[in-house]
Amino acid sequence: MTDTTETYDVVVVGGGPAGSTAALDLARAGRSVLLLERGGRIKPCGGAIPPALIAEFAIPDALLVARARAARMISPGNRAVDMPIEGGFVGMVDREHFDEWLRRRAETAGARRRTGTFQALDRDGGGISLVRYAIRDDEGTRACLVRARAVIGADGANSAVAKQAIPGAEKVRHVFAYHEIVRSPDPGDGFDPTRCDVIYRGTVSPDFYGWVFPHGATTSIGTGSAHKGFAIRPATALLRQSLGLDQAETVRREGAPIPMRPLPRWENGRDVLLAGDAAGVVAPASGEGIYYAMTGGRLAAQAVDVYLATGNSAALKEARRNFMRAHGRVFWVLGMMQRFWYASDRRRERFVSICRDPDVQRLTWQSYMHKKLVRSNPIAHVRIFFKDLAHLLGLVAP
Ligand SMILES: Cc1cc2nc3c(=O)[nH]c(=O)nc-3n(C[C@H](O)[C@H](O)[C@H](O)COP(=O)(O)OP(=O)(O)OC[C@H]3O[C@@H](n4cnc5c(N)ncnc54)[C@H](O)[C@@H]3O)c2cc1C
Repeated sequence: MTDTTETYDVVVVGGGPAGSTAALDLARAGRSVLLLERGGRIKPCGGAIPPALIAEFAIPDALLVARARAARMISPGNRAVDMPIEGGFVGMVDREHFDEWLRRRAETAGARRRTGTFQALDRDGGGISLVRYAIRDDEGTRACLVRARAVIGADGANSAVAKQAIPGAEKVRHVFAYHEIVRSPDPGDGFDPTRCDVIYRGTVSPDFYGWVFPHGATTSIGTGSAHKGFAIRPATALLRQSLGLDQAETVRREGAPIPMRPLPRWENGRDVLLAGDAAGVVAPASGEGIYYAMTGGRLAAQAVDVYLATGNSAALKEARRNFMRAHGRVFWVLGMMQRFWYASDRRRERFVSICRDPDVQRLTWQSYMHKKLVRSNPIAHVRIFFKDLAHLLGLVAP
Protein backbone atom coordinates (compact mmCIF):
# COMPACT_ATOMS: atom_id res chain seq x y z
CA MET A 1 0.00 0.00 0.00
CA THR A 2 1.36 3.37 -1.02
CA ASP A 3 0.18 5.74 1.68
CA THR A 4 -0.01 9.36 0.77
CA THR A 5 -0.84 12.64 2.31
CA GLU A 6 -2.01 14.03 -1.02
CA THR A 7 -5.28 15.89 -0.59
CA TYR A 8 -7.32 17.37 -3.44
CA ASP A 9 -10.34 19.62 -3.41
CA VAL A 10 -11.90 17.21 -5.90
CA VAL A 11 -11.11 13.75 -7.23
CA VAL A 12 -12.93 13.17 -10.53
CA VAL A 13 -13.24 9.45 -11.27
CA GLY A 14 -13.48 8.82 -15.03
CA GLY A 15 -11.98 10.88 -17.83
CA GLY A 16 -14.77 10.60 -20.41
CA PRO A 17 -16.73 13.66 -21.60
CA ALA A 18 -18.44 14.15 -18.21
CA GLY A 19 -15.35 13.80 -16.02
CA SER A 20 -13.02 15.80 -18.28
CA THR A 21 -15.52 18.68 -18.43
CA ALA A 22 -15.98 18.70 -14.66
CA ALA A 23 -12.18 18.59 -14.14
CA LEU A 24 -11.65 21.42 -16.64
CA ASP A 25 -14.20 23.73 -15.07
CA LEU A 26 -13.03 23.06 -11.51
CA ALA A 27 -9.37 23.57 -12.44
CA ARG A 28 -10.31 26.84 -14.13
CA ALA A 29 -12.14 27.86 -10.95
CA GLY A 30 -8.84 27.43 -9.10
CA ARG A 31 -9.64 24.11 -7.37
CA SER A 32 -7.03 21.38 -6.96
CA VAL A 33 -8.29 18.47 -9.06
CA LEU A 34 -7.18 14.89 -9.65
CA LEU A 35 -8.60 13.31 -12.81
CA LEU A 36 -8.42 9.54 -12.40
CA GLU A 37 -8.91 7.53 -15.60
CA ARG A 38 -8.25 3.82 -15.94
CA GLY A 39 -7.33 4.10 -19.65
CA GLY A 40 -6.65 1.22 -22.01
CA ARG A 41 -9.96 1.20 -23.89
CA ILE A 42 -11.62 3.35 -26.52
CA LYS A 43 -15.20 4.10 -25.48
CA PRO A 44 -17.59 2.29 -27.86
CA CYS A 45 -19.66 5.12 -29.33
CA GLY A 46 -21.25 6.34 -32.56
CA GLY A 47 -19.59 9.71 -31.89
CA ALA A 48 -22.42 11.91 -33.19
CA ILE A 49 -22.47 15.36 -31.56
CA PRO A 50 -24.69 18.43 -32.09
CA PRO A 51 -23.49 21.96 -32.96
CA ALA A 52 -24.66 23.11 -29.49
CA LEU A 53 -21.97 20.91 -27.93
CA ILE A 54 -19.29 22.24 -30.26
CA ALA A 55 -20.22 25.82 -29.39
CA GLU A 56 -20.86 25.43 -25.64
CA PHE A 57 -17.75 23.37 -24.97
CA ALA A 58 -15.43 25.07 -27.50
CA ILE A 59 -14.60 21.98 -29.53
CA PRO A 60 -12.13 22.74 -32.33
CA ASP A 61 -13.02 21.87 -35.92
CA ALA A 62 -9.98 19.62 -36.14
CA LEU A 63 -11.72 17.06 -33.88
CA LEU A 64 -14.61 16.61 -36.34
CA VAL A 65 -13.82 13.71 -38.64
CA ALA A 66 -17.05 14.22 -40.63
CA ARG A 67 -20.16 16.38 -40.82
CA ALA A 68 -23.45 14.69 -41.68
CA ARG A 69 -25.82 16.95 -43.61
CA ALA A 70 -28.87 14.66 -43.57
CA ALA A 71 -30.39 11.60 -41.94
CA ARG A 72 -32.19 8.81 -43.77
CA MET A 73 -34.90 7.12 -41.74
CA ILE A 74 -35.56 3.58 -42.97
CA SER A 75 -38.80 1.80 -42.09
CA PRO A 76 -39.48 -1.92 -41.51
CA GLY A 77 -40.91 -2.05 -45.06
CA ASN A 78 -37.67 -0.49 -46.36
CA ARG A 79 -39.20 2.89 -47.09
CA ALA A 80 -36.60 5.65 -46.84
CA VAL A 81 -37.35 9.19 -45.71
CA ASP A 82 -34.53 11.70 -46.11
CA MET A 83 -34.29 14.48 -43.54
CA PRO A 84 -31.88 17.15 -44.80
CA ILE A 85 -30.49 19.48 -42.13
CA GLU A 86 -31.21 23.08 -43.02
CA GLY A 87 -28.27 25.29 -42.10
CA GLY A 88 -26.59 22.78 -39.81
CA PHE A 89 -24.98 19.40 -39.43
CA VAL A 90 -24.33 16.49 -37.09
CA GLY A 91 -20.66 16.44 -36.11
CA MET A 92 -18.78 13.15 -35.91
CA VAL A 93 -15.89 12.56 -33.51
CA ASP A 94 -13.66 9.57 -32.92
CA ARG A 95 -13.75 8.96 -29.18
CA GLU A 96 -10.12 7.82 -29.05
CA HIS A 97 -8.98 11.35 -29.98
CA PHE A 98 -11.94 13.34 -28.66
CA ASP A 99 -11.68 11.99 -25.09
CA GLU A 100 -7.90 12.34 -24.96
CA TRP A 101 -8.17 15.92 -26.19
CA LEU A 102 -10.71 16.72 -23.44
CA ARG A 103 -8.46 15.17 -20.78
CA ARG A 104 -5.47 17.09 -22.03
CA ARG A 105 -7.42 20.35 -21.99
CA ALA A 106 -8.35 19.74 -18.35
CA GLU A 107 -4.68 19.03 -17.58
CA THR A 108 -3.55 22.21 -19.33
CA ALA A 109 -6.03 24.13 -17.16
CA GLY A 110 -4.31 22.72 -14.06
CA ALA A 111 -5.94 19.35 -13.27
CA ARG A 112 -3.55 16.52 -12.33
CA ARG A 113 -4.07 13.38 -14.41
CA ARG A 114 -3.44 9.87 -13.23
CA THR A 115 -3.91 6.54 -14.95
CA GLY A 116 -5.45 4.24 -12.37
CA THR A 117 -8.57 2.23 -11.64
CA PHE A 118 -10.90 3.42 -8.91
CA GLN A 119 -11.49 0.69 -6.29
CA ALA A 120 -13.25 2.00 -3.22
CA LEU A 121 -14.37 4.98 -1.17
CA ASP A 122 -13.50 5.16 2.52
CA ARG A 123 -13.24 7.87 5.16
CA ASP A 124 -10.33 8.98 7.29
CA GLY A 125 -10.64 9.70 11.03
CA GLY A 126 -11.73 13.28 10.28
CA GLY A 127 -14.54 12.14 7.95
CA ILE A 128 -12.71 13.19 4.74
CA SER A 129 -13.21 10.87 1.73
CA LEU A 130 -10.39 8.52 0.88
CA VAL A 131 -10.33 7.39 -2.72
CA ARG A 132 -8.64 4.02 -3.21
CA TYR A 133 -7.38 3.13 -6.64
CA ALA A 134 -4.96 0.75 -8.32
CA ILE A 135 -2.11 1.53 -10.68
CA ARG A 136 -0.91 -1.23 -12.99
CA ASP A 137 2.52 -0.99 -14.55
CA ASP A 138 5.50 -3.18 -15.53
CA GLU A 139 6.23 -3.87 -11.86
CA GLY A 140 2.70 -5.14 -11.12
CA THR A 141 -0.31 -3.60 -9.41
CA ARG A 142 0.01 -0.97 -6.67
CA ALA A 143 -2.79 0.08 -4.34
CA CYS A 144 -2.90 3.85 -3.83
CA LEU A 145 -5.09 6.37 -2.08
CA VAL A 146 -5.75 10.10 -1.97
CA ARG A 147 -7.89 12.33 0.18
CA ALA A 148 -10.65 14.35 -1.42
CA ARG A 149 -12.91 17.07 -0.05
CA ALA A 150 -15.35 16.11 -2.81
CA VAL A 151 -15.62 13.24 -5.30
CA ILE A 152 -17.27 13.35 -8.72
CA GLY A 153 -18.23 9.91 -10.05
CA ALA A 154 -18.05 10.20 -13.84
CA ASP A 155 -17.04 6.59 -14.39
CA GLY A 156 -19.70 5.67 -16.91
CA ALA A 157 -22.77 3.44 -17.09
CA ASN A 158 -21.36 0.79 -14.74
CA SER A 159 -20.16 3.40 -12.26
CA ALA A 160 -18.40 1.84 -9.28
CA VAL A 161 -18.60 5.19 -7.47
CA ALA A 162 -22.40 5.24 -7.90
CA LYS A 163 -22.79 1.65 -6.68
CA GLN A 164 -20.73 2.37 -3.57
CA ALA A 165 -22.00 5.82 -2.66
CA ILE A 166 -25.53 6.33 -4.01
CA PRO A 167 -28.35 4.14 -2.67
CA GLY A 168 -30.44 2.61 -5.50
CA ALA A 169 -27.79 3.16 -8.20
CA GLU A 170 -27.30 -0.58 -8.66
CA LYS A 171 -30.91 -0.93 -9.83
CA VAL A 172 -30.49 1.22 -12.96
CA ARG A 173 -31.62 -0.44 -16.23
CA HIS A 174 -29.58 -0.35 -19.40
CA VAL A 175 -29.85 -0.67 -23.14
CA PHE A 176 -26.93 -2.69 -24.42
CA ALA A 177 -25.50 -1.02 -27.53
CA TYR A 178 -23.09 -2.67 -29.92
CA HIS A 179 -21.38 -1.49 -33.08
CA GLU A 180 -18.90 -2.57 -35.69
CA ILE A 181 -16.42 -0.08 -37.07
CA VAL A 182 -15.78 -0.74 -40.74
CA ARG A 183 -13.63 0.89 -43.38
CA SER A 184 -15.97 3.27 -45.21
CA PRO A 185 -16.88 1.99 -48.65
CA ASP A 186 -16.75 4.24 -51.69
CA PRO A 187 -19.75 6.57 -51.91
CA GLY A 188 -22.69 5.17 -53.88
CA ASP A 189 -24.52 1.86 -53.64
CA GLY A 190 -26.60 3.12 -50.74
CA PHE A 191 -23.66 4.61 -48.79
CA ASP A 192 -23.32 8.37 -48.47
CA PRO A 193 -20.44 9.67 -46.30
CA THR A 194 -22.43 12.81 -45.45
CA ARG A 195 -25.60 11.03 -44.30
CA CYS A 196 -26.56 9.17 -41.11
CA ASP A 197 -28.87 6.21 -41.69
CA VAL A 198 -31.30 5.29 -38.90
CA ILE A 199 -33.06 1.96 -39.27
CA TYR A 200 -36.30 1.16 -37.45
CA ARG A 201 -37.01 -2.55 -37.76
CA GLY A 202 -37.88 -5.22 -35.19
CA THR A 203 -35.21 -7.61 -36.48
CA VAL A 204 -32.57 -4.87 -36.08
CA SER A 205 -33.83 -3.91 -32.62
CA PRO A 206 -37.10 -4.73 -30.84
CA ASP A 207 -36.98 -1.50 -28.79
CA PHE A 208 -34.29 0.85 -30.18
CA TYR A 209 -32.89 1.46 -33.67
CA GLY A 210 -29.97 0.56 -35.88
CA TRP A 211 -27.55 3.16 -37.28
CA VAL A 212 -24.90 3.84 -39.86
CA PHE A 213 -22.79 6.86 -38.85
CA PRO A 214 -20.02 7.82 -41.32
CA HIS A 215 -16.73 8.99 -39.77
CA GLY A 216 -14.63 9.73 -42.83
CA ALA A 217 -12.25 6.80 -43.25
CA THR A 218 -14.38 4.55 -41.02
CA THR A 219 -18.08 4.07 -40.34
CA SER A 220 -19.94 2.95 -37.21
CA ILE A 221 -22.74 0.43 -37.82
CA GLY A 222 -24.66 -0.64 -34.76
CA THR A 223 -27.80 -1.27 -32.81
CA GLY A 224 -29.01 -1.60 -29.23
CA SER A 225 -31.65 -3.22 -27.07
CA ALA A 226 -32.72 -3.50 -23.46
CA HIS A 227 -33.98 -7.07 -24.12
CA LYS A 228 -31.51 -9.43 -22.47
CA GLY A 229 -32.20 -12.32 -24.88
CA PHE A 230 -31.85 -10.23 -28.05
CA ALA A 231 -28.97 -11.53 -30.22
CA ILE A 232 -27.29 -8.25 -31.05
CA ARG A 233 -24.37 -9.49 -33.18
CA PRO A 234 -26.57 -11.45 -35.64
CA ALA A 235 -28.89 -8.39 -35.78
CA THR A 236 -25.91 -6.21 -36.71
CA ALA A 237 -24.83 -8.74 -39.36
CA LEU A 238 -28.37 -8.64 -40.77
CA LEU A 239 -28.32 -4.86 -40.75
CA ARG A 240 -25.01 -4.74 -42.62
CA GLN A 241 -26.30 -7.25 -45.15
CA SER A 242 -29.54 -5.35 -45.75
CA LEU A 243 -27.58 -2.16 -46.45
CA GLY A 244 -24.97 -3.81 -48.67
CA LEU A 245 -22.25 -3.18 -46.07
CA ASP A 246 -21.49 -6.82 -45.24
CA GLN A 247 -18.37 -6.85 -47.42
CA ALA A 248 -16.82 -3.74 -45.81
CA GLU A 249 -13.66 -4.58 -43.83
CA THR A 250 -14.38 -4.72 -40.08
CA VAL A 251 -11.89 -2.77 -37.97
CA ARG A 252 -13.36 -3.26 -34.46
CA ARG A 253 -16.35 -4.89 -32.77
CA GLU A 254 -17.40 -3.55 -29.39
CA GLY A 255 -20.35 -2.77 -27.17
CA ALA A 256 -21.30 -1.08 -23.91
CA PRO A 257 -24.36 -0.36 -21.79
CA ILE A 258 -26.34 2.88 -22.08
CA PRO A 259 -28.40 3.86 -19.00
CA MET A 260 -32.13 4.19 -19.63
CA ARG A 261 -33.09 7.00 -17.28
CA PRO A 262 -31.61 9.55 -14.88
CA LEU A 263 -31.08 8.22 -11.37
CA PRO A 264 -33.48 9.74 -8.83
CA ARG A 265 -30.50 10.85 -6.76
CA TRP A 266 -27.02 11.94 -7.88
CA GLU A 267 -25.38 12.81 -4.53
CA ASN A 268 -24.80 11.07 -1.23
CA GLY A 269 -25.90 13.98 0.98
CA ARG A 270 -22.30 14.62 1.93
CA ASP A 271 -19.46 14.94 -0.61
CA VAL A 272 -20.02 12.63 -3.61
CA LEU A 273 -21.82 13.67 -6.82
CA LEU A 274 -22.40 11.76 -10.08
CA ALA A 275 -22.23 13.06 -13.66
CA GLY A 276 -22.92 11.73 -17.15
CA ASP A 277 -23.73 8.06 -17.76
CA ALA A 278 -22.97 7.39 -14.08
CA ALA A 279 -25.99 9.59 -13.26
CA GLY A 280 -28.04 7.88 -15.98
CA VAL A 281 -28.32 10.86 -18.32
CA VAL A 282 -28.66 9.58 -21.87
CA ALA A 283 -31.59 10.79 -23.97
CA PRO A 284 -34.23 8.09 -24.43
CA ALA A 285 -35.20 7.20 -28.04
CA SER A 286 -31.96 8.62 -29.50
CA GLY A 287 -29.32 7.28 -27.08
CA GLU A 288 -27.55 10.60 -27.29
CA GLY A 289 -25.26 10.94 -24.28
CA ILE A 290 -22.14 12.99 -25.04
CA TYR A 291 -23.81 16.39 -24.89
CA TYR A 292 -25.70 15.46 -21.72
CA ALA A 293 -22.55 14.02 -20.13
CA MET A 294 -20.65 17.25 -20.72
CA THR A 295 -23.57 19.34 -19.48
CA GLY A 296 -23.80 17.09 -16.41
CA GLY A 297 -20.04 17.47 -15.86
CA ARG A 298 -20.36 21.25 -16.04
CA LEU A 299 -23.30 21.33 -13.61
CA ALA A 300 -21.47 18.96 -11.25
CA ALA A 301 -18.44 21.28 -11.28
CA GLN A 302 -20.63 24.28 -10.44
CA ALA A 303 -22.37 22.43 -7.60
CA VAL A 304 -19.10 21.10 -6.15
CA ASP A 305 -17.52 24.55 -6.37
CA VAL A 306 -20.37 26.01 -4.29
CA TYR A 307 -20.15 23.10 -1.85
CA LEU A 308 -16.40 23.67 -1.40
CA ALA A 309 -16.92 27.38 -0.88
CA THR A 310 -19.76 27.05 1.65
CA GLY A 311 -19.44 23.56 3.17
CA ASN A 312 -23.16 23.16 2.54
CA SER A 313 -23.70 19.70 1.03
CA ALA A 314 -27.23 20.67 -0.08
CA ALA A 315 -25.48 22.57 -2.90
CA LEU A 316 -24.72 19.21 -4.54
CA LYS A 317 -28.42 18.67 -5.20
CA GLU A 318 -28.40 21.66 -7.56
CA ALA A 319 -26.63 19.65 -10.28
CA ARG A 320 -29.59 17.31 -10.80
CA ARG A 321 -32.15 20.05 -10.25
CA ASN A 322 -30.58 22.31 -12.89
CA PHE A 323 -30.13 19.45 -15.32
CA MET A 324 -33.74 18.32 -15.08
CA ARG A 325 -34.96 21.91 -15.33
CA ALA A 326 -33.13 22.29 -18.63
CA HIS A 327 -33.64 18.82 -20.14
CA GLY A 328 -36.19 16.89 -18.07
CA ARG A 329 -39.09 17.71 -20.38
CA VAL A 330 -37.23 16.62 -23.50
CA PHE A 331 -36.22 13.36 -21.78
CA TRP A 332 -39.84 12.74 -20.79
CA VAL A 333 -41.13 13.32 -24.33
CA LEU A 334 -38.40 11.14 -25.84
CA GLY A 335 -39.14 8.38 -23.32
CA MET A 336 -42.83 8.42 -24.30
CA MET A 337 -41.87 8.39 -27.98
CA GLN A 338 -39.59 5.39 -27.53
CA ARG A 339 -42.18 3.42 -25.58
CA PHE A 340 -44.90 4.11 -28.12
CA TRP A 341 -43.29 4.31 -31.56
CA TYR A 342 -40.60 1.63 -31.09
CA ALA A 343 -43.08 -0.98 -29.86
CA SER A 344 -43.96 -2.78 -33.12
CA ASP A 345 -43.12 -2.73 -36.82
CA ARG A 346 -46.56 -1.32 -37.57
CA ARG A 347 -45.87 1.69 -35.36
CA ARG A 348 -42.30 2.04 -36.67
CA GLU A 349 -43.69 2.19 -40.20
CA ARG A 350 -45.99 5.05 -39.16
CA PHE A 351 -43.22 6.78 -37.24
CA VAL A 352 -40.97 6.87 -40.32
CA SER A 353 -43.82 8.20 -42.42
CA ILE A 354 -44.37 11.03 -39.88
CA CYS A 355 -40.74 12.00 -40.51
CA ARG A 356 -41.70 13.05 -44.05
CA ASP A 357 -43.46 16.06 -42.58
CA PRO A 358 -41.43 19.28 -43.05
CA ASP A 359 -42.58 20.62 -39.64
CA VAL A 360 -41.42 17.43 -37.92
CA GLN A 361 -38.08 17.64 -39.74
CA ARG A 362 -37.53 21.29 -38.84
CA LEU A 363 -38.43 20.86 -35.16
CA THR A 364 -36.43 17.64 -34.84
CA TRP A 365 -33.26 19.19 -36.22
CA GLN A 366 -33.63 22.47 -34.38
CA SER A 367 -34.10 20.79 -31.03
CA TYR A 368 -31.26 18.32 -31.74
CA MET A 369 -28.83 20.97 -32.93
CA HIS A 370 -29.57 23.70 -30.41
CA LYS A 371 -30.77 21.62 -27.44
CA LYS A 372 -33.66 23.95 -26.78
CA LEU A 373 -37.36 23.38 -27.24
CA VAL A 374 -38.26 25.51 -30.23
CA ARG A 375 -40.81 28.17 -29.31
CA SER A 376 -40.64 30.37 -32.38
CA ASN A 377 -43.46 28.70 -34.31
CA PRO A 378 -46.28 27.53 -32.01
CA ILE A 379 -48.54 26.81 -35.01
CA ALA A 380 -46.08 24.12 -36.15
CA HIS A 381 -46.37 22.42 -32.73
CA VAL A 382 -50.15 22.42 -33.00
CA ARG A 383 -49.99 21.01 -36.57
CA ILE A 384 -47.62 18.26 -35.43
CA PHE A 385 -49.83 17.45 -32.47
CA PHE A 386 -52.86 16.88 -34.72
CA LYS A 387 -50.83 14.97 -37.31
CA ASP A 388 -49.41 12.74 -34.53
CA LEU A 389 -52.90 12.18 -33.24
CA ALA A 390 -54.13 11.23 -36.72
CA HIS A 391 -51.28 8.72 -37.00
CA LEU A 392 -51.93 7.33 -33.52
CA LEU A 393 -55.59 6.81 -34.38
CA GLY A 394 -54.67 5.22 -37.69
CA LEU A 395 -56.48 7.92 -39.68
CA VAL A 396 -53.48 8.41 -41.97
CA ALA A 397 -52.04 5.71 -44.23
CA PRO A 398 -48.41 4.95 -43.28
C1 LIG B 1 -22.36 1.75 -28.94
C2 LIG B 1 -22.69 3.13 -28.42
C3 LIG B 1 -22.93 4.17 -29.32
C4 LIG B 1 -23.20 5.47 -28.85
N1 LIG B 1 -23.36 6.47 -29.76
C5 LIG B 1 -23.53 7.75 -29.32
C6 LIG B 1 -23.57 8.84 -30.24
O1 LIG B 1 -23.44 8.66 -31.46
N2 LIG B 1 -23.75 10.09 -29.75
C7 LIG B 1 -23.89 10.35 -28.41
O2 LIG B 1 -24.07 11.51 -28.01
N3 LIG B 1 -23.84 9.32 -27.50
C8 LIG B 1 -23.63 8.05 -27.92
N4 LIG B 1 -23.52 7.03 -27.02
C9 LIG B 1 -23.59 7.36 -25.57
C10 LIG B 1 -22.28 8.02 -25.11
O3 LIG B 1 -21.19 7.23 -25.53
C11 LIG B 1 -22.24 8.15 -23.58
O4 LIG B 1 -23.46 8.69 -23.12
C12 LIG B 1 -21.09 9.07 -23.14
O5 LIG B 1 -19.85 8.51 -23.48
C13 LIG B 1 -21.13 9.29 -21.62
O6 LIG B 1 -19.99 9.99 -21.20
P1 LIG B 1 -19.44 9.79 -19.71
O7 LIG B 1 -18.25 10.66 -19.58
O8 LIG B 1 -20.53 9.94 -18.75
O9 LIG B 1 -19.04 8.26 -19.63
P2 LIG B 1 -17.96 7.46 -20.48
O10 LIG B 1 -17.76 8.06 -21.80
O11 LIG B 1 -18.34 6.03 -20.39
O12 LIG B 1 -16.61 7.71 -19.66
C14 LIG B 1 -16.39 7.09 -18.42
C15 LIG B 1 -14.89 7.03 -18.21
O13 LIG B 1 -14.64 6.48 -16.93
C16 LIG B 1 -13.58 5.56 -17.02
N5 LIG B 1 -13.73 4.60 -15.92
C17 LIG B 1 -14.72 3.66 -15.78
N6 LIG B 1 -14.53 2.97 -14.64
C18 LIG B 1 -13.41 3.49 -14.06
C19 LIG B 1 -12.71 3.18 -12.87
N7 LIG B 1 -13.13 2.21 -12.02
N8 LIG B 1 -11.61 3.89 -12.58
C20 LIG B 1 -11.17 4.89 -13.41
N9 LIG B 1 -11.79 5.22 -14.56
C21 LIG B 1 -12.91 4.52 -14.87
C22 LIG B 1 -13.72 4.93 -18.40
O14 LIG B 1 -12.49 4.40 -18.85
C23 LIG B 1 -14.21 6.12 -19.23
O15 LIG B 1 -13.15 6.83 -19.84
C24 LIG B 1 -23.26 5.72 -27.45
C25 LIG B 1 -23.02 4.68 -26.56
C26 LIG B 1 -22.74 3.40 -27.02
C27 LIG B 1 -22.46 2.31 -26.03
